[in-house]
Amino acid sequence: MNTEIITADNANSYVLRNSRPATEAEHPQLCRIFNDMKLRQHCERDLSLMVGTAYSSGVAVKVSPQAGVVLLDADDIMNMTPDVIEFLIAHEVAHHSIFHAFDAATVATIETLCRTPMPLARLMARICNEILADIAAVSECRNVDAAVEFLSGDDDELKTLYVDLFFNRDNQVPEKLYYCFESAIRLQALGFLVNSEYYFGLLEVGVSAQRGQALSNHWNRVDKLFSHYLDFSEADASALGAVMGAGLYIAGCRYDDQRWYLEIEALGDYGDPLQFLDFKTVEDAYDIIEINSQHIRGIKHPLKHIAYDVVAGAVWSREDDADVAEEFLGFLADNLGVDARLL
Ligand SMILES: [Zn+2]
Repeated sequence: MNTEIITADNANSYVLRNSRPATEAEHPQLCRIFNDMKLRQHCERDLSLMVGTAYSSGVAVKVSPQAGVVLLDADDIMNMTPDVIEFLIAHEVAHHSIFHAFDAATVATIETLCRTPMPLARLMARICNEILADIAAVSECRNVDAAVEFLSGDDDELKTLYVDLFFNRDNQVPEKLYYCFESAIRLQALGFLVNSEYYFGLLEVGVSAQRGQALSNHWNRVDKLFSHYLDFSEADASALGAVMGAGLYIAGCRYDDQRWYLEIEALGDYGDPLQFLDFKTVEDAYDIIEINSQHIRGIKHPLKHIAYDVVAGAVWSREDDADVAEEFLGFLADNLGVDARLL
């Protein structure tokens, strides 16, 4: 067993371990779009493109302050249209390009976030970053349909619910989409963007020239989207962290095992992962789930579904016996009060 501890220094090589640089010979179209986007977005960071296994369709990996990677998942991009791939690449390049340009616009929102419990603040900050990258990508690609298609996924039933959010931006996200809350809010923010008075201006001059008033207007709308989901307390956060840690421990997660890097990072939103994973036996972990069960059943918040989803994803990807996985996830879902979906 590899028990190397993940640090900021080696986390990137772990994330990139199953990937290799995209070459002109093998991926001419990807390279062309990527080079084009780098030029258009004036990215100061030295970027390279890699293709392989990623935990989502695309990931922006910061290797150093001066260098970064855009990693695309080889399987996911096989099923995408060229327009959607272009949106995805533009979005990932934007993660490397835009932050300093938008700092001022986001400060107000970030200050609000600091007053909410940590997992909620981190979730919102993450979604804000995604929305910024979406704005840049839509303005570079001039194609909002590709963005909607990318965000609404390929499950036909859920797709209808997602697309509905794009058109009905004042609606709350249905509970069925809570585990993918990020995509749902991004679709609503996108809906506001393309129906705004500043959208065509943005397309004309590009994102870097169009900051200031237009984006702070947009940010006010995004703030309103979040206002439905502020009912989440510190007590909710610690109960969820405890149960998530217990679930991951039962699934085999240990603090010093780098294969659990992503899960430990997700757990870190709730507090100290070392404490959440501090069990002597698996039975102790089961006890923690049951002790917190009643409190957590009373929580009606996307974070509960997201936390369950992290554990469920870990169990499905690591447990060979489908019956064992199903039984454990049924137990966990029951205690949390969520639907046990098959991932
Ligand atoms: Zn992103």
